[in-house]
Amino acid sequence: MAITRIPSTTHEPLLWEYADSKESTDVVEIDDRYGLYIDGEFRSPRSRSHFTTVNPATEEPLATVAEAGKADVDDAVAAARAAYEDVWGPMSPPERAKYIFRIARMIQERSRELAVLETLDGGKPIKESRDVDLPLVAGHFFYYAGWADKLEYAFPGIRPRPLGVAGQVIPWNFPMLMLAWKVAPALAAGNTVVLKPAETTPLTALAFARLTEEAGLPPGVLNVVTGAGETGSLVVAHDDVDKVAFTGSTAVGKLIQRQLAGTTKKLTLELGGKGAHLIFEDAPLDQAVEGVINGIFFNQGHVCCAGSRLLVEESVHDRFVDKLKRRLSTLRVGDPMDKNTDVGAINSKEQLDRISDLVESGRSEGAEMFQPDCELPQRGFFFRPTLFTGVSQSHRIAQEEIFGPVLSILSFRTPEEAVEKANNTPYGLSAGVWTSKGSRILWMADRLRAGVVWANTFNKFDPASPFGGYKESGFGREGGRHGLLAYMDWSEG
Ligand code: NDP
Repeated sequence: MAITRIPSTTHEPLLWEYADSKESTDVVEIDDRYGLYIDGEFRSPRSRSHFTTVNPATEEPLATVAEAGKADVDDAVAAARAAYEDVWGPMSPPERAKYIFRIARMIQERSRELAVLETLDGGKPIKESRDVDLPLVAGHFFYYAGWADKLEYAFPGIRPRPLGVAGQVIPWNFPMLMLAWKVAPALAAGNTVVLKPAETTPLTALAFARLTEEAGLPPGVLNVVTGAGETGSLVVAHDDVDKVAFTGSTAVGKLIQRQLAGTTKKLTLELGGKGAHLIFEDAPLDQAVEGVINGIFFNQGHVCCAGSRLLVEESVHDRFVDKLKRRLSTLRVGDPMDKNTDVGAINSKEQLDRISDLVESGRSEGAEMFQPDCELPQRGFFFRPTLFTGVSQSHRIAQEEIFGPVLSILSFRTPEEAVEKANNTPYGLSAGVWTSKGSRILWMADRLRAGVVWANTFNKFDPASPFGGYKESGFGREGGRHGLLAYMDWSEG
């Protein structure tokens, strides 16, 4: 950490300021124009259509990217089918594992380059893409490479068979990590892939495609079709896709579920959330403050499992909120390429507008807003870390997923009330509990309707641990041994 000391000639307290600590972009080469990655090569789109991807921190264009139309998606699925039938399906599991291990090692070797690209295209702080996203991406590929030749032991008593061609649609909040969550288990289980990255963050998926080419992955095993929602819809609806995996909004998830009803396609959905983060009076409050900050301001709050609803036991509510406000005021908001930045850019103008609308609804419905007095960059999409007190259950900011750096705070008096309030949402993805009593953690975890319950921590991920939701947060699990099941046919023994 670089700290500049500003000397003072008086007896006033010394002022300390962080010096700029910019990550270099020299490690990254961005093409002016990208084609679609189909059958092991980059091709111009038959649609002849392109779009521009911008850096959300500067609003500068980064590259022009192909927009796949129907004929392009047909080509990608046909390439994936042929690779499945002729190469990847018949290949022995230890051989498949070698490719996935090689990809994992190359991700590690290129992690700096991929982290910089992720931050440029998506706006997340470089310290997060460098220290969280990329290590987890490599971790997932290593983890699933290890399973590729041991599937029979993963699920004793069943004969594991791949499903065929997997159509995967991923969002913009963790572009590389969502790719890893989907591509690694699909390949390890013997499937081939057609991947549709989000419109605002296509660059790391394209860099990954190039990396797999250098790794010698046979043509057609991985295909990347960039585009907008329409392209995603074409992938999902394609007749020759056997399995659909989607991460994104609950609204689009419902649409896909309707689209696939009556077909034989297997489906997993990882959708939105409104995670409850509960603080009991016996919790280590200073540690809990750090957990809450990490729970909602990590990745600008663009996290499906973010702890966006804080429930604090009434006896410590005011003390805890004071501590939180003080901590909020120390967060550094700004240039995501600066290694000191805690809160980077909002991913797009549309998302910034969505966050601003919901925050306005919080004010107009009577909640009390607090924002630190930090200066925001002149250009780019930025939003101050925000918290609301005096929030009631019926407020939109307590019910709807904001997907931004905004925390809604409520209080409770008894554990029963805490459970009732925490579960009072259509979502069920994550929850967190802070208390020094182990028995209370178990009691709460039993009753919270959430796919993940963290105890005295938050937002912790590991390739070996499954992740997924209940209710409107979706179904199916990604990560861990469970993540393989979604890509295997295990209907007969
Ligand atoms: P979407 O659900 O629209 O996007 C997720 C992915 O699905 C993107 O690749 C998108 O393409 C694609 N897509 C969009 N429409 C369709 C369709 N009809 N069929 C198939 N694929 C489709 O999320 P948004 O980007 O619009 O974000 C809106 C809200 O969703 C956020 O505010 C947040 O609340 C929530 N969200 C939740 C996420 C999570 O991890 N659970 C992740 C992202 C968003 P394209 O990007 O080109 O539109």
